[in-house]
Amino acid sequence: MKDSLSKEYRKKLSLLEKYNKFYYQNQKPLVSDKKYDELKSEILELESNYGFNDLKSPNVKVGYKPSKKFEKFKHKVKMLSLSNAFNEEDLINFQKKNINFLAFDKNYEFEYNAEPKIDGISASLNYKNGKLIKGLSRGDGDEGEDITENLKTIKDIPLNISYKDFPDEIDIRGEVFIETNDFKKIEKDFANPRNAASGSLRQKDPKKTELIPLKFIAYTFGYNSNMKESKQSDFIKNLDKWGFKISALNKTIKGINNLVKYHSDIEKKRFTLNFDIDGIVYKVNEFNLQKRLGFMATAPRWAIAHKFSANYSITKIIDIDIQVGRTGALTPVAKVKPVNIGGVMVSNATLHNEDEINRKDVRIGDTVKIERAGDVIPHVISVDKKLRTTKSQKYVFPNKCPSCGSKTIKEYNSTTKKIDAVRRCSNEGFGCEKISIEKLKHFVSKDALNIEGLGKKVVEKFWDLKLIKFPDDIFNLNFKKISELDGWGPQSVENLEKSVNKSKKIKLDKFIYSLGIRHIGQENAKLISEFLKNYSNFIKLKDERKIEELSNIDGIGETQINSLKIFFKNKTNLNVTMSLGRILIFEKNVIKKMEGAFSNKILMFTGKLNNISRAEAKSIVENNGGKIVSNVSKKLDYLVAGEKPTSRKVKMANDLKVKILNQIDFEKISKLGQ
Ligand code: NAD
Repeated sequence: MKDSLSKEYRKKLSLLEKYNKFYYQNQKPLVSDKKYDELKSEILELESNYGFNDLKSPNVKVGYKPSKKFEKFKHKVKMLSLSNAFNEEDLINFQKKNINFLAFDKNYEFEYNAEPKIDGISASLNYKNGKLIKGLSRGDGDEGEDITENLKTIKDIPLNISYKDFPDEIDIRGEVFIETNDFKKIEKDFANPRNAASGSLRQKDPKKTELIPLKFIAYTFGYNSNMKESKQSDFIKNLDKWGFKISALNKTIKGINNLVKYHSDIEKKRFTLNFDIDGIVYKVNEFNLQKRLGFMATAPRWAIAHKFSANYSITKIIDIDIQVGRTGALTPVAKVKPVNIGGVMVSNATLHNEDEINRKDVRIGDTVKIERAGDVIPHVISVDKKLRTTKSQKYVFPNKCPSCGSKTIKEYNSTTKKIDAVRRCSNEGFGCEKISIEKLKHFVSKDALNIEGLGKKVVEKFWDLKLIKFPDDIFNLNFKKISELDGWGPQSVENLEKSVNKSKKIKLDKFIYSLGIRHIGQENAKLISEFLKNYSNFIKLKDERKIEELSNIDGIGETQINSLKIFFKNKTNLNVTMSLGRILIFEKNVIKKMEGAFSNKILMFTGKLNNISRAEAKSIVENNGGKIVSNVSKKLDYLVAGEKPTSRKVKMANDLKVKILNQIDFEKISKLGQ
């Protein structure tokens, strides 16, 4: 048992090491901070439960070893990380531990200096006789990279300081970061502002660092030859006087409840700042107490970082954008002031649909809470109505499509017997620009024609350049023109041509799916293709009566039939489908014939079956060589009637002399086939 756990421990450690390398050295995080923190906690838990230890443990070292790109230097005083607190309880424990450590009365209240935890990277600036001598990155805490020349390009860093009370030798430490506005200009190259600051600061060529405006805020010291201050807050005042930038949000606070209040006030204000912060750092303010408390392996005992929640953040809605999807659905998207949620920059959050906007009464200018969980699109959870100004106005959902100007409609859903929550553009397909583009993206997507090299962005570009308008245009692309475009080398043009040609060979179900007919997803496309068998039968659906015949397929109902009728009624859809029919080569539908108790038999179900779902019953029949239909006809072999069957169906079956099975009969027969 311990062996396998030890193996697991080592595996987790090397994974963490890999994440560290990509994050600290390459500025390309492989996972979100939340995932990273989870892995770190698992490692620490294994260590505390089973006594594992290793020099690579996050309990022993911080950051990642200095890059070989730079000369490395030892820090005179180690540069460490900070312990984390995620809630009030963690803060209470932090304070209790320190009270115990110092053997103070249990009601003792520390004075803390609360400082925003700027999400950048730390740097240590060595000054001798008022002159900046060397600047190091944190590296692994012991040794840092010599990035002096790069740091010198930052305007906030004074090169000479002539104050008399400035120590003869001191390491000034603080955070190098990038402001949100500047980050926007380079955001495509980095996951978040912290990675951008780190990437820019650790350029081999300082001229490249200079191109990106970095900022520096000072907050502490490492080595200090003659310390005169007795409190952290006094030291910060001096930093300000000596010419360093300090944070305007620093504040001395007593009492855990006041720390929590400050944390929540700043969390609300977070989005109004022009730089990223990921929590608040509380430092025991008295230096003599800091000295007594000292350090643990990777963090000081006298400070803690109270992190903001990793998966939500508060921000402001700048605008509401209406996106038009492939099926005409209008999805409102909140354009928000960019915020960092768990290491990912979020500037869009879905508002789902019109009903959702009305229910939450979301308005432009609102302060909202946004959540980003897993890989799902970030969404707006709630609105802080108290923060509304008198100018705030109810959002009116457009009654015209923002893309083509057609009327927007809400349909009646016959299954739910309710009006849809979603509003749609009433234009049928290719008449609406946005719908057309989405249809094209769907056509080339992985589960449809799977044309490599023709991703969403390329489709948009080709559309703008009028290279494509309808799906069949893809097979008449002007590759010569494409080769003249920026970013298209001969190799990529050749690859695109190859994958377009390759996609011409296609199975009928994929083709049906690729047309993007509403309510005809992959499953339904498969059912239809099994029923119709080939393209020439499919195109016969232009005759409405042929579409009706599809209602005999189990799984295809009124909704799908109506949707197919609407699709084929549209001339453009029909022309595109026929043109594709001439271009594409349809692969034969090889249907694996199953043998079994229902070989060549046609069955239908009505009523509820006990302890078995319809889907499972269907798969039993199919695995035993049978076929399921949804209409009673002469062709039917068995009608399986469960509880409360539709009496009309039972009567019809009786009239047509179709054998009726109850659930027990059905199970008996199926067992025979196993
Ligand atoms: P940290 O960033 O959580 O805290 C320590 C740092 O806080 C200091 O080094 C300093 O740079 C900064 N800081 C900002 N303001 C400060 C202030 N006023 N006083 C003191 N320090 C201040 O710790 P870390 O060890 O640098 O990084 C660990 C975090 O980085 C993890 O929580 C994780 O989320 C993230 N990380 C992510 C990945 C990934 O792959 N996604 C990999 C490694 C690390």
